Amino acid sequence: MKQVYFDNAATTPLDQAVFEEMKPYMLEHFGNPSSIHTHGRKARVAIEKARKSIAELLNTSPSEIFFTSGGTEADNTAIRNSVEQYGIHHIITSPLEHHAVLHTVEMLEKTGKVKVSLLDVDEKGQISLDQITEFLKTEPNSLVTLMHANNEIGNLNDIYEIAELCQEYGAIFHTDTVQSMAHFKHDLQTMKANFVVGSAHKFHGPKGIGFLYVNHEKPIPPFVIGGAQERNMRGGTENVYGIIGLAKALEMAYENQESNSQQIRSVKSYMIDQLEENIPGVQFNGLSAEMDKSLYTVLSASLPPNDDNDMLLFNLDINGISVSGGSACSSGSNIGSHVLTAIGSDPDRGAIRFSFSRHSTTDEVNYVVGKLKEILKT
Ligand code: PLP
Repeated sequence: MKQVYFDNAATTPLDQAVFEEMKPYMLEHFGNPSSIHTHGRKARVAIEKARKSIAELLNTSPSEIFFTSGGTEADNTAIRNSVEQYGIHHIITSPLEHHAVLHTVEMLEKTGKVKVSLLDVDEKGQISLDQITEFLKTEPNSLVTLMHANNEIGNLNDIYEIAELCQEYGAIFHTDTVQSMAHFKHDLQTMKANFVVGSAHKFHGPKGIGFLYVNHEKPIPPFVIGGAQERNMRGGTENVYGIIGLAKALEMAYENQESNSQQIRSVKSYMIDQLEENIPGVQFNGLSAEMDKSLYTVLSASLPPNDDNDMLLFNLDINGISVSGGSACSSGSNIGSHVLTAIGSDPDRGAIRFSFSRHSTTDEVNYVVGKLKEILKT
């Protein structure tokens, strides 16, 4: 049976070349990077080389890149530690953020540390810069946390403009760029953000490794107390081969960014056409079908009410098709998607998130749409 993996926003397969780069650091160069002997120095040099390479790609300084266990840790750290360090009592965010952000903000609110202003979102999931400005005018000493690309509906926020706005009012700006990192070439000198986040497994790197960019103008206290790793910011022996893999995956993504994005865009655009042609009543959630306003890897389809919608993901799965219904982080639970709820999606309509990578093909699209047609008996 054909196997189709259209769930690349959940995670991507590790690239073979990334694995080859990591392998020697699993087997031969196993030294502890904190050890001063040759084995240790070999690992230390490789970590710093990886940090330098990532910093160069993002047009920033290696001293502003801190390795973490992934996107969730980086989001948590940026939000919690900046609130603590800068006496922030007000957070501006949106109901469409990933749980790594939303639950962190909710926890700070519950413990009475901050007041939260949630931005309004329209039925397409759009926020308004005017409303951010209004909130900032009332309370400039705020933390603004808004993602670049939404993981469920693909909407893009103009983080360069939001960063400027925050700078104008003296607010701190954290942006969760987990879904767009490597798919867009972020320039951290131009973008005036305080915190930016990356997670390797979203761009063909290994799982369990990511990074937090911390702009030097607003340093934060240590993430994890312990040894002197990560310049005293995050104690604990480094995930050496993860770091090597992260850097290699980002380098490869940057090298081939234009051709990859073109190829993925054409698959997404073909999928939109095929769904519209073959599935009567199909709609698209958020801005995901607007090619210039959404992440080119994500398409969120909304299907007409149907008794079989509950079984949709299961039926696709038994046909070898891996997709997600809403956010993969919540899949497996019966809790509906907070994103689709916030944009007022009809709960009776089925939602499928198709997310693509450079390995996705139009043949796969044909197979998926064909199976969907069969399942929905359209
Ligand atoms: N932020 C967004 C937008 C995501 O999509 C994800 C993962 O799905 C995360 C954060 C969490 O990243 P990680 O899996 O590396 O902890």
